[in-house]
Amino acid sequence: MENGKIRNICVIAHVDHGKTTLVDTLFNESGSLGQKNKNVDRLMDNNDIEKERGITIFSKNAAIEWKGVKINIVDTPGHSDFGGEVQRIMKMVDGALLLVDAAEGPMPQTKYVLKNALSAGLAPILVINKIDRPDARPEWVLNNVFDLFAGLGADDRQLDFTTIYASAKLGISSTDLEVTGTSMAPLLDAIVEKVPAPKIDLEKPFRMLVTSVEYDNFLGRLALGKIERGKIDSGAQVARIDREGEISFHKIQKIFIFDGVSRKEVKSVGAGEIALFACAFKDLDIGETISDKEFPEALPTIEIDKPTVSMEFSINNSPLSGKSGDKLTSRHIEERLEKELRSNLALKVERAGGDSFKVSGRGELHLAILIENMRREGYELSVSRPEIIVREIDGRMCEPEEFVVVDVDEEHSGKVIERFGNKKGEMKNMANIESGRVRLEFTIPARSLIGMHTDLLTETRGTAVFTHSFHRFIPYAGKIEGRRNGSLVSQSNGAATGYSIDKLADRGEFFIRPTDPVYTGQVIGERNKPGDLVINVTKGKKLTNMRTQSSDDNLKLVPPREMSLEQSIEYLSDDELAEITPTAIRIRKRYLDEEVRKKMKRAVASV
Ligand code: GDP
Ligand code: MG
Repeated sequence: MENGKIRNICVIAHVDHGKTTLVDTLFNESGSLGQKNKNVDRLMDNNDIEKERGITIFSKNAAIEWKGVKINIVDTPGHSDFGGEVQRIMKMVDGALLLVDAAEGPMPQTKYVLKNALSAGLAPILVINKIDRPDARPEWVLNNVFDLFAGLGADDRQLDFTTIYASAKLGISSTDLEVTGTSMAPLLDAIVEKVPAPKIDLEKPFRMLVTSVEYDNFLGRLALGKIERGKIDSGAQVARIDREGEISFHKIQKIFIFDGVSRKEVKSVGAGEIALFACAFKDLDIGETISDKEFPEALPTIEIDKPTVSMEFSINNSPLSGKSGDKLTSRHIEERLEKELRSNLALKVERAGGDSFKVSGRGELHLAILIENMRREGYELSVSRPEIIVREIDGRMCEPEEFVVVDVDEEHSGKVIERFGNKKGEMKNMANIESGRVRLEFTIPARSLIGMHTDLLTETRGTAVFTHSFHRFIPYAGKIEGRRNGSLVSQSNGAATGYSIDKLADRGEFFIRPTDPVYTGQVIGERNKPGDLVINVTKGKKLTNMRTQSSDDNLKLVPPREMSLEQSIEYLSDDELAEITPTAIRIRKRYLDEEVRKKMKRAVASV
């Protein structure tokens, strides 16, 4: 592609407003550098877990061509755990599509990403998506978005935004609400016309800020970024300036640009293009500069998000270990974590003694995704309760505080306020957003949020929409109330019986079904009051004849609580672990033996 005919954009949106669908539709309509892509499905969510959860976790690059112009599209993560990544992407692009649902209007995530885009100086194009919805109210949405821009301090250039009315699903867009579109052409035209072309200075010495690092099994670490100035050829020597200012020299082995969703190798590349460089880097980091070897000049570096949450990963030593996985040893776990570190730059791994590792990441979701990937690959392991990482600032212990926005049905707002109050949250604002719905804003220690989302959804009958983002560091807030109820703990090894579960139904809510294998020290339910209770769920009426068996089958048991991986992790108390295997997730006491648990408790209490 000829230089100068390039546009670099990102797509920003609240989750579910149609980002993935829009990008797929743009691919179908345009070409990926010449060739038409027909019927691609969810192109950018190419990780299984992202597809299942319907979220974009790691941002990806792709490129399409429209009327001779190459459009590089960078997808941005929609989850606030990955906020730093969003900010970095904003520095690489010259424009943004702000996608807003035509019925829902701007939501908390819209505000969060828009704030980042505006402060990076971008002038976003507003795409009001889903105009085909029967409850669409595009004028109301437009007004609200305008107010949002103004409230976030947009300048005149940004306030004068272009609006496109679209249905990503039907593949139509229009600049005029009165005129129903027939294709995506109006949106593609707007991108080419309204988004500034990147500054292209081909004469000055080559320079690029490393915005992201990718990993290739054969080529190792690859530097990704937008070339700020100059041009460079494959095979050339370049200077690499690390975050400390140290300079080293490397030979460019390969250069790639984006073509559709794949990479295309090119012989040379110049300013304005988004490219990937393979130079046999061993320990390349985000925020470094790759530059002309004669004029090594560093660009201002970028902040890297520090890990906020850590968990202990260790081998699965429960009596049921090895039943479904085939990668069980601490050596297996260690090698897998080492491999992950090569490409997952926000992750940190330390040896924690014995067979365990302290794994730190950017949030519960970040770590949960790694755990989910591992179980799908055949690993078994046990993991501890996530801990918020505290930091020393000016000699004081500090912890992260989050800003939380909860939209909820009015009738449930009292429960939300109470729950935040109990966990050291502070209400900052409360407003009616539409009839029967209120928006509550809080600040709260990040620690308090672990487990809160699940609880809130249950307590508000699923009506709460919950978004949070890092606010600031505050002095350590002291003890915060954890889960109030104790656990129901199995007294014996064996198979659970319907008979026992039925008899003990008034003690709490079970996580298991009849015939499930259980073991001593396994957490088989949540008790309905504080303190753990050890119970035997393997007792049965003697199963000597068919009649007893079938009367067991006929018991009307309360269905067990089924917990996802995230819910299981959030449930854990300090003395519990989640047992992760390819086919099952169980919760257990760290010390399976009740006597040992008591002894440990006394030991802790006497410290
Ligand atoms: P993302 O989370 O922003 O990536 O959103 P998705 O692209 O995954 O879309 C979320 C949901 O909205 C999916 O069920 C889509 O089928 C639906 N959707 C996307 N675009 C449209 C549209 O233009 N009209 C309607 N009615 N639904 C849409
Ligand atoms: Mg998506």
